[in-house]
Amino acid sequence: RAAITEADYQRVVDEAYSKYKDLKEGANADYIPILATVPSEMFGVVIVTREGKVYSAGEMDYEFSIQSVSKPFTASLIMAEQGAKTLREKIGVEPTGLPFNSKMALELYPERSVNPLVNAGAIAAVSLVQASSEEDRWNKVLGNIEAYAGRDLKVLEEVYKSEYETSWSNRGIANLLYNYERLYSDPEEALRVYTRQCSIGINTRDLGMMGATLANEGVNPVTGKRVLDKEDVPELLAIMATAGFYDESGEWMYRAGLPAKTGVGGGIVAVVPGKFAIATFSPPLNEAGNSVRGLRAIGYIAAELGVGLYGPN
Ligand code: GLU
Repeated sequence: RAAITEADYQRVVDEAYSKYKDLKEGANADYIPILATVPSEMFGVVIVTREGKVYSAGEMDYEFSIQSVSKPFTASLIMAEQGAKTLREKIGVEPTGLPFNSKMALELYPERSVNPLVNAGAIAAVSLVQASSEEDRWNKVLGNIEAYAGRDLKVLEEVYKSEYETSWSNRGIANLLYNYERLYSDPEEALRVYTRQCSIGINTRDLGMMGATLANEGVNPVTGKRVLDKEDVPELLAIMATAGFYDESGEWMYRAGLPAKTGVGGGIVAVVPGKFAIATFSPPLNEAGNSVRGLRAIGYIAAELGVGLYGPN
């Protein structure tokens, strides 16, 4: 297959955007009340290459909450601080096949917090960050995500408030984990920092840049800063491949064949290792909590460019 040209990148981004922009399936998340108020028609599609080149269509500037797309990046912080082995042993890497907020998964895999891409493992990852205070913990989490995006980011305070006030399910998870000695800080502190992490505001381009940093073996292509060791990137991508779409991860592999992560704010990032990232933003979600336009757009681009990891290409 011929090398992908600049014109190819722009063409597939434009096509994916126009093909799915009028698709009306799915609904905004509303269990975090404020997410229901984000305009559902917004849609952005971007490819960012490992050299930092950006090809985009649609909404690039609106700042939405990163939500669970933050999870692999905080898992990366644990790898960078404490090694991939610690992440595997103290949190775990098995996909659950269960919804993102499952408590049953905690009982099924009693010796682990499950994996860092579902709520339980993500709250545990935040609790595992080496920190001397809650502020220090938060600064490390935020600083790491900023290094991936290549710019300063802010918390969407309204999102934080809306989610923290209604965090009963996540609070239950944090307390259960603490009881099983699988949470490594005060549970309410971990819950607060986790919820702030999920409330960080990013735009579609930021998400593409974060993915491009993984495509570029852990170095942000624009700032040149290394965020993750090259040898840890494949492990992180492996977790994204098996658990990035929650209980729809198998379906996603079938569709696109790429490691990816979704969030209930409507963002998705997918990584073509060593080449580029595809990111989308569109708030309406399917039953599993994955963006309907986004998953179709990325599936389309992966097929058009022949970059699904399992071929054909
Ligand atoms: N902050 C959300 C929660 O904990 C993240 C869920 C998601 O994006 O899938 O419920």
